[in-house]
Amino acid sequence: MDLIIRNANVNGENLDIGIVGNKVTALEKKISQTASKEINADGRVAIPGFVDCHLHLDKSLLNERAEYQDLTGPEKGALTREEKAKFTVEDITERAERILLQGVKAGNLIIRTNVDVDPIVGVKGIEALLSLKEKYKDILEVQVAAFSQEGFLNYPESKELLEEAMEMGADLVGGHTIVDNKDGEKHIDTILEIAKKYDVEADFHLDESGNRQHYLLPYLAKKMIADGLKGRVNGIHCCTLSALNEEEKEEALALIKESELKVTAAPTAISTRALAPVKDLLNNETLMGLGSDNVRDFFNPLGSGDVKQVALLLSYVHRFFTAEEEESIWKMITVDGAKLLGHTDYGIKVDGEANITLLDGKTPKEVIANQSQTYAIIRKGVDYSQQFLARS
Ligand SMILES: [Zn+2]
Repeated sequence: MDLIIRNANVNGENLDIGIVGNKVTALEKKISQTASKEINADGRVAIPGFVDCHLHLDKSLLNERAEYQDLTGPEKGALTREEKAKFTVEDITERAERILLQGVKAGNLIIRTNVDVDPIVGVKGIEALLSLKEKYKDILEVQVAAFSQEGFLNYPESKELLEEAMEMGADLVGGHTIVDNKDGEKHIDTILEIAKKYDVEADFHLDESGNRQHYLLPYLAKKMIADGLKGRVNGIHCCTLSALNEEEKEEALALIKESELKVTAAPTAISTRALAPVKDLLNNETLMGLGSDNVRDFFNPLGSGDVKQVALLLSYVHRFFTAEEEESIWKMITVDGAKLLGHTDYGIKVDGEANITLLDGKTPKEVIANQSQTYAIIRKGVDYSQQFLARS
């Protein structure tokens, strides 16, 4: 064997993990063979890696060039557009790469970032993120969503630019249902049209404001069912679900179930509105993930690209405190998040790809509570710990 990781906590069991080439070839209580390289995990938690279902890497770290101001959402949007007009590919790359690397250090294996595409910035963000995707493809998977942050009413050229982004190699298309205000349905139609044209999934900032006048989830779910797009759309935020009465909420949950709409919670939104009712969604068997969302920009002055932070935040905000509840949060940033992003084979298993992240904690609970550091990063059988964890 090339590498044996001994005494690792794999889904609650203490196991040795044997690796040959880029594959796990043994997963046993005690592997009797030896390997040229061995790591004693000493009971540490082993997972393939974390999954962050929603980020805005192209806008990350804008906070470094302008102090955070406590303004309204539209005012923060205007400030962002002003900065966005000055973006260059190099500038986006430099900021996005720093947060991407912080995520690698935190143990990320798969991330999805929305990237603004509109006449203000053009496809510069797509160019930057696609080259980072390629550069780090052996370490983590970056899914790039060509995102209509500004909508079509004020920026009708966005549609062509989104198509250009798809031609360049973006992985999916993203919409923002409240941005076109009175014409949210048309916005949804346009994004889904692009998704169908390029046979990709769609990702919507859905009912983000939490206001009832912005409630478009039923329209989207019915359209998914009618257009044969069941399970092909991810709704980020879905905050308006928290403003509904019980009867309306039941109707919404039934539609989510029928359309197989996936939902990503982005808990930092709690600073300005109520989050989606995550426990109700999980009880409804909705496939859910978590996302860091904005990282140190005009919308969120904090954040780090470490999805463990938002897992801790959501645990407090929605009181995920029992063992079963803790497990559901853990699944959102591991196996369920991976499934949401299209990976049904996530896990450490024999014949599976040898992606192993060892975390400095003995249980998932300890990892979340302590915000444990990453102890080792193995990707496709290669140990990148020295390179990315900067430890001697
Ligand atoms: Zn977002």
